[in-house]
Amino acid sequence: MAQVLLVEDNPANSKLALLVLRQGGHKATLATDAAHGIRLARETQPDLILMDVQLSGMDGLTAAKTLKADTRTRHIKVVAFTAFAMKSDEQRLREAGFDGYIAKPIRYQAFLGTIRALLEEQLTDPCWARAGTAT
Ligand code: MN
Repeated sequence: MAQVLLVEDNPANSKLALLVLRQGGHKATLATDAAHGIRLARETQPDLILMDVQLSGMDGLTAAKTLKADTRTRHIKVVAFTAFAMKSDEQRLREAGFDGYIAKPIRYQAFLGTIRALLEEQLTDPCWARAGTAT
């Protein structure tokens, strides 16, 4: 059981992800834009942030950079929640400071399994290989 902050602007995606997270026993909260997500991250100190990459206003890459540059939030694991799963995209996500990624659309068991794996690993572990198995 973990506290997961989801930053996602697509209602269909967030509805499903929140449902699956809660059914998996996690406490999940939603922000629909990056600025709100960053504010909630500072205030609520979640265990994990699932960050959509394509957001209106500040995008997910900028948001991840902001979170990782801030001493209040840099210790929180930030995982890209993205439809992109190409090698070149992975590089871009790493450079922005993401700790891993989960590809959309999600599949129930794989999604929860990846969340669990991400939570169990040490913060210093990049966990790309395991995150990638969710595709
Ligand atoms: Mn989006």
